Amino acid sequence: MLKRFRKKIDIDSLDLERVYSIEEFEYISSLVKNRSLVIEGEPVDHFELSNTGKLIPIPPTTFKKELTVTKIANLLEDWNITTRQKGVVTTSQGGFRISRDKIVAPDVAFTPRKRVKKLSKKQMKTFQGRPWSPIFVVEVDDFDDSSYKNKNSKFAKIDAKMKDVYFAADTHVQLGWLIDPVHENTWVYKRNKNNKPFRREKGWHNLSGERFLPEFTLTINLITMEEIEDAPSSDPETSSSSGSSTDSSVEQSFVQCVYCDAWFVSKYLLVHHLKYGHDNVV
Ligand SMILES: [Zn+2]
Repeated sequence: MLKRFRKKIDIDSLDLERVYSIEEFEYISSLVKNRSLVIEGEPVDHFELSNTGKLIPIPPTTFKKELTVTKIANLLEDWNITTRQKGVVTTSQGGFRISRDKIVAPDVAFTPRKRVKKLSKKQMKTFQGRPWSPIFVVEVDDFDDSSYKNKNSKFAKIDAKMKDVYFAADTHVQLGWLIDPVHENTWVYKRNKNNKPFRREKGWHNLSGERFLPEFTLTINLITMEEIEDAPSSDPETSSSSGSSTDSSVEQSFVQCVYCDAWFVSKYLLVHHLKYGHDNVV
């Protein structure tokens, strides 16, 4: 199926003003996954498709942003597993055909089990099935201009994407977080009674998943580099020579599962058991 695009589309000179079909978008996306691409001097990680059918190049993420995205995705997946949601957590490698002609890839998204179960094979494996969307989206970025009211600022563009794309009238998105880990600020998006999106600035505090993600709270100080930056960096040669004596001084203590009485040699193994194995034991 993809062969027929080979002659028509030259990945090294993509026309960003041209209108592309969903099939062409899939073909281009498959090529970008396995090679590096630079457009007008800027590296491209993947593309989104605008509602006018144009390619939107998305650059690779910085280390700091990726760290935050990964931590949020991990904490969300942790909640997904521990509370037996059986939903699906995706990152920006997971694109959604969110409306008829628009494909987007939120930094982090959650799709509940009941919606995943209804997806057809076509929706799972291609962008050609009927549009669908997650219920929760997260975008991470930093807004160095801090001009939140400037119409052309990066903030204004992401704000518009949140409201007009993720929270369009026909999507299932109910909760959205915009997180700036560099300037330590957050914005929460929801729908009002008339289904219209609204935004609230929340500062740098823990964020609640509310009724959309029951019991989930994002502990804000777990998603930045502070833990890493605070740790004293030691010389690798020195630490390796003193490593063995430190290890031997760690006392081994056993912990017991309160539900099934099984014993574990570390807290980590007990937590792992509670998350993944306990239901299979009892
Ligand atoms: Zn147990």
